[in-house]
Amino acid sequence: MVRIKAHGTVLQPARYSRGNKMLAVAILVSSVVLGITLTSSHHNLHGGSCTSFAEPAVVQNRTRRQFIGHLHSVFPFALSKPQPCRAGEAIASASKSVDTVVFPGAILKSLSDTRQYRALTLPNGLRALLISDADATTCAAALSVHVGFYSDPDQVPGLAHFCEHMLFLGTREYPEENSFKRFLSANGGSQNAFTGETDTTYFFDASPGSLQEALKRFSSFFKDPLFTESGVERELNAIESEDAKNRQSDGFRISQLIKSFAADGHPQRHFGTGNRQTLLVEPSKRGIRPRDELLKLFKLYNAGLMSVCVIGRDPLETLQTWVEDSFSGIHGSSDAVNPASLWQG
Ligand SMILES: [Zn+2]
Repeated sequence: MVRIKAHGTVLQPARYSRGNKMLAVAILVSSVVLGITLTSSHHNLHGGSCTSFAEPAVVQNRTRRQFIGHLHSVFPFALSKPQPCRAGEAIASASKSVDTVVFPGAILKSLSDTRQYRALTLPNGLRALLISDADATTCAAALSVHVGFYSDPDQVPGLAHFCEHMLFLGTREYPEENSFKRFLSANGGSQNAFTGETDTTYFFDASPGSLQEALKRFSSFFKDPLFTESGVERELNAIESEDAKNRQSDGFRISQLIKSFAADGHPQRHFGTGNRQTLLVEPSKRGIRPRDELLKLFKLYNAGLMSVCVIGRDPLETLQTWVEDSFSGIHGSSDAVNPASLWQG
């Protein structure tokens, strides 16, 4: 548990749990499918990627709490205490890789919920919640990785947020910048992402028939992003403009003010959005190159620290095959070092 003494008050930032991560991605997928906007901070500014998200607005938090209450009956698996699947109690899917571990317990849902659910863990440690809805008019997915702006190096504020932007700008398999956005646009979909204190979440929606290809393209973000020099230079401008926009927002200003109350040396003080000054100008004076720092940070993107939630109209068996095919190639292990160990006592 992290405790921050701030002017005599003890603040307790939300403690990381894998259950909370799964809940977060499930909420996002549901919000996309249900057409619910959780927060005005999720907006397309440039190239489809979004913002460093500090949850400053009371209204936004209230909306989220209400929605979480609604989801309590929909996603009890996500809300329950983390229940890691152990090999001894695993139910291996007969037709799939024997190394995929399917959550053995019942996933509770409301009586009126006709969707089918399956939770599983891939051999690389990535956890997935699959939702099959035969009546779905759109498909969606969200992936959350336990790397946020708490993981920014002190000398490069905003790096995790910058990394979030850069993943949209080409991978080894799909080198063309923004090709994912174009693919989704051609299939009636959209994409976005946000960087929080301890997690970064990416998500998309599209027409149901495009889910398999969308998952393939989406998963490449987390395998082999290019971080091209030209992309780095250009995206710095996008970050700069996002920061300029945030500075006009009372919510962001209040959030940054509150952060300044945190104890010296605690990552809660970090400037999560970053800008050209923090990501390029100041680091360059110390001989630090942004691209090198991106490559270092991306090493934290371990599948063992990721949760993905996928919803489509296809059967669970099909969804599982697609998730295995797309996400098994992400580097990772179930014993991945949790970045939180860097700041938790
Ligand atoms: Zn952004």
